Amino acid sequence: MRIAIISDIHSNLEALEKTLEIIKQKSIDEIVCLGDIVGYGANPNECLSLVKETTSHILLGNHDEAAISLKQIEDFNPYARNAVLWTTNQLTEANKEFLRSLPYKLELNGLLFTHASPFEPEEWHYILSLAEAENNFNFFQQPICFVGHSHAPVIFSEDFWAREVVRDKRFIVNVGSVGQPRDLNWRLSFGIFETGQWTYENIRSEYDVQTASDKIRNAGLPRQLAERILIGR
Ligand code: ZN
Repeated sequence: MRIAIISDIHSNLEALEKTLEIIKQKSIDEIVCLGDIVGYGANPNECLSLVKETTSHILLGNHDEAAISLKQIEDFNPYARNAVLWTTNQLTEANKEFLRSLPYKLELNGLLFTHASPFEPEEWHYILSLAEAENNFNFFQQPICFVGHSHAPVIFSEDFWAREVVRDKRFIVNVGSVGQPRDLNWRLSFGIFETGQWTYENIRSEYDVQTASDKIRNAGLPRQLAERILIGR
């Protein structure tokens, strides 16, 4: 079975459409969305409709939660906070209701999926360092946990960074961000895991980033949000 794992779309319709186009060509059986469908970009409702229509499982992200509850909004930087408030005003009641129904984590085929971290997934901890990864391995039993949240694709094994996943070792795999990559590479990022071969691939692709950026500017969102997606940070 081939599972596509997408995360951190952040209302970027152009990046999401391109991602789904690539997924279509790769004979994927299931699409799991790790959350943060909204926040930052100009098309929250359109992205939600498309995700609902195309993916088999959807988890809640911190920006999704903030848009429906304004929870932890004081922890957001000013641009993110501005985008959350803009998004709250844009979202339809039906889409807010839908976001309220989303879970924090999912187990599928013996694998774990969550937006931020297996340790207290509802607290939105980042896993950036080896020490943070090491601690998180104590809070799940599955061989692999897929996460997003940091917007930088990376693989942690139990004792180091890794280039690929192998059997009989455990991993935390960050699939990166579809709509707002932050690893100084503006190309969209997502993952494909093959359960038979036990292989993981991180996909990067160009997309119509200029249109996505122009839409952010024209929507009256902070111009920094339009600029950052052009450079991937
Ligand atoms: Zn995010």
